[in-house]
Amino acid sequence: MTRTHWLAPALVVAVAGCSATRDAASVLQDAQEAMGTVSSIQYSGTGMNAFFGQALTAGEEWPRRELSSYTRTVNYDQRSARDELSFAQPTFGGQQQNTQVNGDKAWNVGPNGPAAQPATAEERQLHIWLTPHGFLKGAAAAGNATLTEAEGTSVISFTALGKYTVDGTIDAQNHVTSVETKIANPVLGDTGLVASYSDYRDFSGVQFPGKILITQGGFPLWDLTITSVTPNAPLDLPVPEAVASATIPAVQTASTKLADGVWHITGGSHHSVLVEFAEYVAVVEAPLDEARSRAVLGEVKKLVPNKPVRYVLTTHHHFDHSGGLRTYVAEGATVVTHQSNVPYFEKSLAAPATISPDAQSTSPKTPTLQGVSGKDIITDGKQTIEVYATAGDTHTNEYTLIYLPRPRILVEGDAYSPGPPDAPPPATPPPNAVALYDELQRLKLNVATIAPIHGRGAVPIAELRKFIGRK
Ligand SMILES: [Zn+2]
Repeated sequence: MTRTHWLAPALVVAVAGCSATRDAASVLQDAQEAMGTVSSIQYSGTGMNAFFGQALTAGEEWPRRELSSYTRTVNYDQRSARDELSFAQPTFGGQQQNTQVNGDKAWNVGPNGPAAQPATAEERQLHIWLTPHGFLKGAAAAGNATLTEAEGTSVISFTALGKYTVDGTIDAQNHVTSVETKIANPVLGDTGLVASYSDYRDFSGVQFPGKILITQGGFPLWDLTITSVTPNAPLDLPVPEAVASATIPAVQTASTKLADGVWHITGGSHHSVLVEFAEYVAVVEAPLDEARSRAVLGEVKKLVPNKPVRYVLTTHHHFDHSGGLRTYVAEGATVVTHQSNVPYFEKSLAAPATISPDAQSTSPKTPTLQGVSGKDIITDGKQTIEVYATAGDTHTNEYTLIYLPRPRILVEGDAYSPGPPDAPPPATPPPNAVALYDELQRLKLNVATIAPIHGRGAVPIAELRKFIGRK
């Protein structure tokens, strides 16, 4: 079987560009000569990988997770990469992670074998072209790279994967010192992704940075000190059969009536709660992304036709809980959130989203936010929602508890997620579930039912008591 080498046309361009005047092709060629050409590379190091989107307070840095080991291997010809990492402390998603990509297929390898991750494939591919040698190869292969020169540095730009503008800076030593692009994010819209490379050294005849800093959305995502590099390390990552046919699953919704005018909208990993008022409706929680919001809004229109969504409320600002807000803002809803989130959301809800356009970028509305500090009430005399701003817990510094006093329903996210009905309580009560229960006592909320954002569904308060070993 013969196969056209994907780099072939670019090599022709690079050779043709080897003339007296500097152009993109000659700058790339000089850099490739200085840094060494590899078909694959493996590098290991120490440092940290942060938990993107999960800041303790909106607008502060992503929580750092120290790594006890880190190895990344990239095969540029196969367009495949593998990240093997161990966190020093237990973390959400597992203390060991092994993430892989080959072309447009991505998967994680865990104790039960490969698990397809179709939604991450594009970003993982993009990270191949963000590596120092990957950038030079990607720019050369693109065939349309442009050059901008300023103050001893050269900036080469090309388009990766048909839609990402990638800008790489090459210094006077012909080293790639930074590579940046923008990716789509449901909360932030167009989101900066910037890799900075410094402390270049010779590793077995190849120049590679001793320091790698990658920021995403303005804060460090990776901060690595490289300890070893193996040029041309073998890597073959054939796409597992179960991964090859996997697609992003369709968004599902289901609903359960909890009380008059109150529904739990479930069907996915994150639930919402619909509350009907005389003239309008309110939705508690806009998780994940626009696709989830569209599906939930479809369910809302089915349950309560012809009433506008006037309010959308959040439990906390974490990205998996707020990625659907932009859709509600485009619908004209007021965002009711903890006061500390207001400056952050004012910016993110109006941010451009050109890479993955959404309702708020195609027909934008000026976001209206209602910050809660202390207690707020939404009422029409008959239906009432009480919103309490709390100090949060170990997971988030800001947290709102949403309480419906008439049916005595509490909506909360992340502090307590009910498991199977017959599950034994944990040996040690989780501190955030304890903090939630204590907060309910302090606020004197006479809760009968918890409608959680995660977990199997609405449960009586007795289940939380049992979970934390209280009577
Ligand atoms: Zn959270």
